[in-house]
Amino acid sequence: MLFGRDPRKKAVLELAMKQVERVLREMQDSGKDLGQLKFKKYQKTHYTTCRCAQCLEAQRTKNPHKRGLLEDGYKVYVGVGGAEGPDEE
Ligand SMILES: [Zn+2]
Repeated sequence: MLFGRDPRKKAVLELAMKQVERVLREMQDSGKDLGQLKFKKYQKTHYTTCRCAQCLEAQRTKNPHKRGLLEDGYKVYVGVGGAEGPDEE
């Protein structure tokens, strides 16, 4: 994972990593095999009928990545044989 240049952002990421690592270690200590766990970032975009500035720009430039975002977050899933993981929503 690449860190941005913002030191505050880096500190937040490092804190999050430590917390996630601690939880995973505790679960592993209780006998669970977590070696297959993977994280995936997901983002939900606005509906295709949306007419906000971002979505209009996306339509104009034919670049769906520019659509407005409703929410984003992380999903945890179990990796299966090197596959790319489940499709988003
Ligand atoms: Zn929109």
